[in-house]
Amino acid sequence: MDYLFPPPPVVTVPVLGRPERFPVHRIYCVGRNYEEHAKEMGFTGREPPFFFLKPADTVVVCEAGQTATIPYPSLTSNLHHEIELVIAIGKGGSNIAAAQAHEHIFGYAVGLDMTRRDLQSDMKKQGRPWCIGKAYDHSAPIGPITPAADVGAINQASIALTVNGANRQSSTIDKLIWNVAETIEHLSKAWELQPGDLIYTGTPEGVAAVVRGDTLHGMIDGLTPIAARVD
Ligand code: MN
Repeated sequence: MDYLFPPPPVVTVPVLGRPERFPVHRIYCVGRNYEEHAKEMGFTGREPPFFFLKPADTVVVCEAGQTATIPYPSLTSNLHHEIELVIAIGKGGSNIAAAQAHEHIFGYAVGLDMTRRDLQSDMKKQGRPWCIGKAYDHSAPIGPITPAADVGAINQASIALTVNGANRQSSTIDKLIWNVAETIEHLSKAWELQPGDLIYTGTPEGVAAVVRGDTLHGMIDGLTPIAARVD
């Protein structure tokens, strides 16, 4: 087939211990999925899950043992970090029951749902889409994917983020309002999941701003930690 111009490259994420890379299809994100984070954003913490998307090419790969670069985005003066567990889908499907969700999970990674909070807040106030606050270029840093078979009890893992060595976010995955399996159940009612989909599951409390020169370290027990510098 001839194209008018070169088609965009496939976005991929490395897989721990495997030569093959994970080709990204879509990036789904869960909003306000930890009670204490929902509260800090002014909500009650109890509501059905809701979702937004980022384009696949917003991924910033954080290779193991390296410090990735996150370009400071345009239009904002309040760039927030959100450390999140990311589910990597290996088998697609619709209407997946929570009890079968594990069959669809290829693995897990540490991710950052970077957010232009000032722009997101403006859009919220006006009842407009969040895209400009959430789905901007380079907004989805992610570390290597660990196959689920090699991950222990992910639902019990701790999750944490430091900025310049200082603790910013610290929680456990069992505090998710909608856990991994329930998130897949809800999400797959609304969209047909495909191999290559990534699901950012939501962030715990402690979101705050970063500035140029800050270095972020994100970790989840059992997964490859990530490091990234805001430039
Ligand atoms: Mn988030």
